[in-house]
Amino acid sequence: MAIRLLLIFLFSPILAKAEICERPMWSDRAESTKRLFDKTLYQFASSKDIAPLADDTLSKLAKAQSPTLIDWGKKRNINPQTEPEKFAKEWRSYFATQFIISKYPTKVTAVDILIEQHFDNLSENLMTNQYKKYLNEQFLAAKKLALQKITNSPLEKDSKQIIINKINAVKLYFPEKLRGSKYEKSILEFLNWGLAFDPNNDEINVGLDTLKYNEQNLKVALLHEIAHSFDTCRWSQKENSNWPFEKIGLCLRKFTLTRDDSRLEEFKTTGYLTESEYLFFKKNQTCHNTKYPPSGIQKDQITETFADWFSAYALSDEKINIHFRDDLCEDKNREPGSSYLSNTDRLYKIYLSQKHFSSLTKKKSDEFRCTF
Ligand SMILES: [Zn+2]
Repeated sequence: MAIRLLLIFLFSPILAKAEICERPMWSDRAESTKRLFDKTLYQFASSKDIAPLADDTLSKLAKAQSPTLIDWGKKRNINPQTEPEKFAKEWRSYFATQFIISKYPTKVTAVDILIEQHFDNLSENLMTNQYKKYLNEQFLAAKKLALQKITNSPLEKDSKQIIINKINAVKLYFPEKLRGSKYEKSILEFLNWGLAFDPNNDEINVGLDTLKYNEQNLKVALLHEIAHSFDTCRWSQKENSNWPFEKIGLCLRKFTLTRDDSRLEEFKTTGYLTESEYLFFKKNQTCHNTKYPPSGIQKDQITETFADWFSAYALSDEKINIHFRDDLCEDKNREPGSSYLSNTDRLYKIYLSQKHFSSLTKKKSDEFRCTF
């Protein structure tokens, strides 16, 4: 009896607490989505207008023993000597994404038609009406929670009302076909990304990566996007009052980089930025776009850290488990100057520093905790 009890004790699932990211748990549809996505992409990459370009580039790089190509294989854990077919196959898909699809419109009509078909195909087969309905339900639940949290927060009355109006205005955006959708300018945002807030339309753009999120992960990610509707950049653009989360922002600054403006004046003088762009960035200190700061120069990280913080705060009375942000368990290469902290820092410094999250793991990061 004693041994039996001991065994139950040892193997109890409650005690066998998994560390965060040890065993990510994706949605039920994640695997079939990936299979269909990879298959469709490879079909596209093998078409007669694209495959010869990919294969030709590969043989040139291989002949020159290109270090970039060697690194590319290493990163994907594919050995060209022992797995030449797999190597060539993966290369085609990679080439098609980076050098063909991302360049849409390519000015070659036949290729553009293929890209449109590829996009529409994935959109129709993966973003089904059933999935859209499910996502809308999850979105409404996240919105309701965000509204409740703001209503019950210690913020002052006027600020609360402004934020509530902003949250109410947010909606989801799904593309049907590529032509005429806003993804014409940023096609990979749909094919290779999850959720993204579009401040110009108060919309959350839904990308295919969203399909793999489990329900809890989805809720946290939606709350993050909703928070962008009232982050410091949005606030400084639209409101005359001080940002109501100044105190939280100040606390987050302990590990959040500010925008590097050391070349702002120079960019105005050289004409890289127009007068109105220059004035916009002068006024809105935490904003950035694809033009400024240019690649490699530090963007302000406060809008992203705040959105993470709010999504954590909004869940303080909810039941949560360790799979709340499995999307952050993936190693994403951040380019220098990125507006994001590393995924590890996002998990530990923002989410796990909150009391209700820290109880899920043995690792403590209380020193980063920010509260009202
Ligand atoms: Zn964000």
